[in-house]
Amino acid sequence: MKLKTKLSLGLSFLFTVILVFGVLGIFYINLLSNDAAKVLKNNHESLVYCNNMLKALENIAHYETAKSDFNENLKKQEANITEPGELEATKGVRQNYTELLAAPDDSSNYPQIRMGLQIINDLNQNAILKKNNIVQKTADDAKLWLTIIFTVLFLITLTFIVNFPAILSNPITKLTEGIVEIAGKNYSKRIYLKQKDEFGELANAFNSMAEKLDQYERSNLAQLRFEKSRIETIINQMNDGIIGFDAKKRILFLNVVAEKLLGVKEAEVMGKYSADVAVHNDLMRTLLQDGVKKELKIYADNKESYFNKDVLNVMNSEEVIGQVIVLKNITPFHELNEAKTNFIATVSHELKTPISSIKMSAQLLSDNRVGNLNEEQNELIKSITDDSERLLKITSELLNMSQVETGNIQLKLQPVAASAIVQQAVEAVLFKAQQKQVTIKINADDNLPMVNADQEKTAWVLINFLTNAIKFSPEHAAVEINTTRKNNLVEFTVRDTGKGIEEKYLPKIFDRYFKVPGSSKTGTGLGLAISKEFIEAQGGSIRVQSEIGTGSSFSFLLNIAG
Ligand code: ADP
Repeated sequence: MKLKTKLSLGLSFLFTVILVFGVLGIFYINLLSNDAAKVLKNNHESLVYCNNMLKALENIAHYETAKSDFNENLKKQEANITEPGELEATKGVRQNYTELLAAPDDSSNYPQIRMGLQIINDLNQNAILKKNNIVQKTADDAKLWLTIIFTVLFLITLTFIVNFPAILSNPITKLTEGIVEIAGKNYSKRIYLKQKDEFGELANAFNSMAEKLDQYERSNLAQLRFEKSRIETIINQMNDGIIGFDAKKRILFLNVVAEKLLGVKEAEVMGKYSADVAVHNDLMRTLLQDGVKKELKIYADNKESYFNKDVLNVMNSEEVIGQVIVLKNITPFHELNEAKTNFIATVSHELKTPISSIKMSAQLLSDNRVGNLNEEQNELIKSITDDSERLLKITSELLNMSQVETGNIQLKLQPVAASAIVQQAVEAVLFKAQQKQVTIKINADDNLPMVNADQEKTAWVLINFLTNAIKFSPEHAAVEINTTRKNNLVEFTVRDTGKGIEEKYLPKIFDRYFKVPGSSKTGTGLGLAISKEFIEAQGGSIRVQSEIGTGSSFSFLLNIAG
């Protein structure tokens, strides 16, 4: 039965209870009041008339008014005959009264009239008693019926009161429990309600919803498991070490390579805080301490390998929910690079001596003492000298670069006067400057302290700055060298008024083999990279400022000596 029908029935029943009680009550009250009215109206009035007639009879011999009183009451009595025998008695009184009026001195009528009135009185009194009994019975009946109906209705209402809240609350409680279970992801929860009302329908809808959620969860779970094992397989097949952390830096997974590198098994460290693992694991400590990108030399599996550390943030919308450290195995590249560096070092070294002797021979040939050369021969000799000089510069840069790459920069740090470095550099480029009619201006602070530097390497850097400045300056331009003290440092700056460098290339200018696109084709793009390495190896720093069309300013800072 529908809940709506149940509610309608319940309310209709209550309405019926009120109606039945009301109608029954009114019915019995009417019955009682009718019975009582009858008693009052008929019998009680006869008693009053008889009484009045008896009083009037006492005075009838003396007063005329008594006669009319008697007559009036007798008439009323004659009109109020209700009981059997009352008519005869009233007629007897009328007859005796008529006789009394005809013969007032005959006193024998008095007792007969009194007796007649007494009979009427008795008849009515008896009737009153009888009707009283009837009223009493009606009241008893009313009491009985009302009690029976009240008891029946009370029992029904009581059952209704006891059961009805449960009809509503039981399914609601069950549904609430079900919803709580579903909210807690227990999709196997079902609700069983026998009723076929709206709650039953709701329970069915709930069960089919739970069923669908269950299916969805199971298919999702299977999908997730599949994806997980797929990703695990991929991760484990990789040559790179991979370590996953959650947002609180707890270890989530390690692949096989990472296990070997760290020397731990995944099961041993899974779920542990990386900082706790780092206490007993040097590599983990290094991985956690160092910056985002770094090359690491790791000794694992009985060999030395090189890895590039990359830290990737795992994001969920805007939030970082974990990190993955990827240790990319760069050993093969390292080996290749090493072979390349060795090759370059060997070739440059082997080329340096013959090129020097070519240059020397060319210079000797150009000497008039050796013999006179014609114009054309002089040009050829000059070109040989220029080319061999350029080749020497390249071989020297390549040699320096191989030193830098193998980490073999040999420094001779000592207190050196800044002016000595400047002088050495200027002398080296003077000829080039003169060729291009570029003037070199030297500005130096007074009383400059000595710097702690390797004179040769620092002069090499300055020469590189000056060579570039001259190369990129127009003819007749001026190149400035400034040496200034900055707290505990001395700054060497080479400023030119050349074409300048576009801002987007500035961050790359110190990279190896980088040349500004479209600039001169000669040069290796190694000069500034080597300069950076040389200066940083001495504890200094290097920088560039440049504006296209205005010129460039290359500078480095070195610590003062002492
Ligand atoms: P290179 O041997 O090619 O000169 P460098 O490392 O010394 O190599 O310089 C790299 C590049 O930087 C050059 O190719 C040039 O494009 C740019 N560069 C260096 N110095 C200057 C300068 N003073 N003015 C403009 N561009 C410069």
